[in-house]
Amino acid sequence: MTALYRGRFAPSPTGPLHAGSMVAALASWLDARAHGGRWLVRIEDVDLPRCVPGIDRIILGQLADCGLQPDEPPVWQSTRGAHYQSALDRLVAGGVAYPCGCTRADIAEALARSGQAKHRHGELVYPGTCRGGLHGKPPRAVRLRTDLPSVECPLRWSDRRSGAQAQDVAAQVGDFVLRRADGLWAYQLAVVVDDDAQGITDVVRGEDLADNTPRQILLQRLLGVPTPRYLHVPLVRDARGEKLSKQTGAEAVDTVRRPLQALQAAGAALGLHLPAASSPSEWLGPAVQAWAARWGASAPETAR
Ligand code: GLU
Repeated sequence: MTALYRGRFAPSPTGPLHAGSMVAALASWLDARAHGGRWLVRIEDVDLPRCVPGIDRIILGQLADCGLQPDEPPVWQSTRGAHYQSALDRLVAGGVAYPCGCTRADIAEALARSGQAKHRHGELVYPGTCRGGLHGKPPRAVRLRTDLPSVECPLRWSDRRSGAQAQDVAAQVGDFVLRRADGLWAYQLAVVVDDDAQGITDVVRGEDLADNTPRQILLQRLLGVPTPRYLHVPLVRDARGEKLSKQTGAEAVDTVRRPLQALQAAGAALGLHLPAASSPSEWLGPAVQAWAARWGASAPETAR
């Protein structure tokens, strides 16, 4: 039995959609439509200090301008703390997550002492200091143990575009944070709990997030929830080859005055070559067909 396709677009409301996030929105919508599935929108506003009030509504408006309408009411992660807490409680009770009392300075010091100051994307790979207890320190963050014998190492997964992938999560990422020292929920936990709660069968998102996927699969396995299929689409880069991002000031797409152009640019970035159209709705139909020809439209095989 294959589950009905359910996909999602999960923007963080830190700024309006730009050319790069439009690509992720369009790719996820096209894949859902090509599979005759449902497409949901989830506002990922867990990192409240980075969220800008009102941007969620602007993003939903931009999607609507382009004819990308969610099939169910959007979900805001800021309303879902109790669900993250109950997943965290299960992980702690199962002995796979633990409180950590280390500050950044403690971590840097422990790594320097062991002579292995490992960095990953500017983050220190946590050396596991508090796995055995807090040593009198007050608890700060909660971390997931990645050194468990039950954890596949390296963790293997498959991307629909890039094929077979593997990551040694313990060595390359280390015990990662589930709840931050400031009390906020970490993206990794929130995304796994919500993809499961929303019955997501297929995650389609930008390539910059591919590196997070093994952590998410690990959490899915430890929580006993299904692993969706993953498709990471190429990133839109600026003239200097950098990923477009809100942090580097990427311009918002003007979907009010130029919705068709916004779609056409996103379609071109996805390698779709389409006939001329005079409106978003006229463009989207052939785009679904072109997407289906490129990425397939068979019902997803599930690992459920
Ligand atoms: N909220 C994340 C972002 O805007 C995307 C999360 C995801 O698609 O898994 O980068």
